[in-house]
Amino acid sequence: MEQMLRRTWAEIDLDALTHNFKTLQSRVGEKTKLVGVVKADAYGHGALSVSRTLEELGAGYLAVSNLDEARELRTAGISMPILILGHTPEQYVPQLLEYDITQAVTCEAKALAYNEMAKACGGKLRIHIKADTGMSRLGFLCAGKHFQSGVEGILRSCDLPWLEAEGIFTHFAVSDEPERAESVAYTRQQFTLFMDLIRALEARGRTFPLRHCANSGAVVNYPEEMALDMVRPGIILYGCGAGAEELGLKPVMSLKTTVSTIKILDQGWTVSYGRMYEMPRDTRMGVLPIGYADGLFRILSNRCSFYAGGVLLPQRGRICMDMCMLDLTDASWVDVGDEVEIFGPHNRVDKLADLAGTISYELTCAVSKRVPRVFLKKKKVVGRELRMYL
Ligand SMILES: *Cc1c(COP(=O)(O)O)cnc(C)c1O
Repeated sequence: MEQMLRRTWAEIDLDALTHNFKTLQSRVGEKTKLVGVVKADAYGHGALSVSRTLEELGAGYLAVSNLDEARELRTAGISMPILILGHTPEQYVPQLLEYDITQAVTCEAKALAYNEMAKACGGKLRIHIKADTGMSRLGFLCAGKHFQSGVEGILRSCDLPWLEAEGIFTHFAVSDEPERAESVAYTRQQFTLFMDLIRALEARGRTFPLRHCANSGAVVNYPEEMALDMVRPGIILYGCGAGAEELGLKPVMSLKTTVSTIKILDQGWTVSYGRMYEMPRDTRMGVLPIGYADGLFRILSNRCSFYAGGVLLPQRGRICMDMCMLDLTDASWVDVGDEVEIFGPHNRVDKLADLAGTISYELTCAVSKRVPRVFLKKKKVVGRELRMYL
């Protein structure tokens, strides 16, 4: 792995994560617990180190997408509560119990199946009820004419003897669009429905210690209004996404590479596959050992900039599988071996995501397994991870 470290790597700044956590905690108030959403290997940042840091910081919960992600954390010694947001087939209830994992329950049929399995194991499964208030993905339907049947289904599910209903939650579709009046109205409508649902359940004697709905968008745009008992920020915890910069949150990941070779290319020549860039002048071109197989999207070809030698410099021509080219003509001081920040604090991933017509989540998740993660605290390396079997 040592040799990989000077090719291309991702630095994970755990101090930035700490800063973001504390900023968000004070934004929603001390009484509200923070769930660290660490699904998809903590959005590509490395779930273990991120989770250990969040555990030290006193996060109330971790959230993952599936049982394998939950087991990875437990096997590594993470003992704090973990919630699986997504689907777990009922035959894995024994493992949920063994690893002490909380499972989202999204409909009555699942509740019944989980209850049967938990009974067979002789253990009580801790669950959070998922209500569908308008995302139309997972959850008990409860909008409009489905309200009463939703209430009844949730009540019957929570009454099952081998399930322990600790929480109830819902998920927003457009909480990250404060500039669109329609989206603000939709989010408030989802929230109102969620609160109506909780009140109807309470009126029937069913209460939940942990009610939660706020994702990053809601923490940014409706912090007090929608905080409830817990909030579930993902992307802003990593210092990216809409509103992150405005709140002073710091990018946790810096994707870095080095200049491997520099060549002077003659005016009129073309560079890389497809010949999409023709040199308008003699050009001092750096070859970077990073390409789309590392997670640098090919759609960014010839339209993005990277940060090197204290300035942003234009990337030229097609991004290849393992390499791409950076125009160093206007930065004569940048030399072979020098560091290049693909994205990070000097070149926000959100900007690259915009250029690629997507969201920052997709770029950090795409940083591939051959890119080692290097964990930093106080600018010192405190851990390294390479997901390859060497
Ligand atoms: C992914 C996810 C989150 C976090 O979303 P962000 O937009 O990253 O804050 C919260 N809740 C659920 C149910 C999710 O699936």
